[in-house]
Amino acid sequence: MDFSLVSAAVSAIKASSDIGKAALSIRDANLLSLEVARMNEQLLRAQDALFRHNSQLLELQQDLMEKNEALRKAQETIAERARYRLTEVSDGNWVYRSTVLTMGDEAAPKDRPHYLCQPCFDSGRTVVLQYSFTESWGKGFNCPVCKLRVNLRRDFQPGQG
Ligand SMILES: [Zn+2]
Repeated sequence: MDFSLVSAAVSAIKASSDIGKAALSIRDANLLSLEVARMNEQLLRAQDALFRHNSQLLELQQDLMEKNEALRKAQETIAERARYRLTEVSDGNWVYRSTVLTMGDEAAPKDRPHYLCQPCFDSGRTVVLQYSFTESWGKGFNCPVCKLRVNLRRDFQPGQG
């Protein structure tokens, strides 16, 4: 914020006031008219400085609102990420597992354990993986969004990891 604008407005108002006080003793209408014009000029300077200051203030308020919104989203993301832990479900295959039921937090929501797609979650999407089993591929998770398939260890049980 440019505080020199406030200072300029205060100076202009003071100058206008000084001109007005000095003009009280002037009896010549022409001279008085000139002093009134000088007062008006100072008041217009003050008004201009205050308008510019107000404009900067509005920009700062807008910037603050945007930053508060970004902070709120970041805090939501942090809280969301804290609900999951990266888990290896077979050699080199990773997913995010919900941690709600394993934390022993009685205040936490009683979500059923679930798993999220790691690439999707890391890119900001929360996509629950779908379990599948086929004779040829065995146990696995499928991502309905990015179509990733994650094979599971033969002995994998939901809630593990
Ligand atoms: Zn995915």
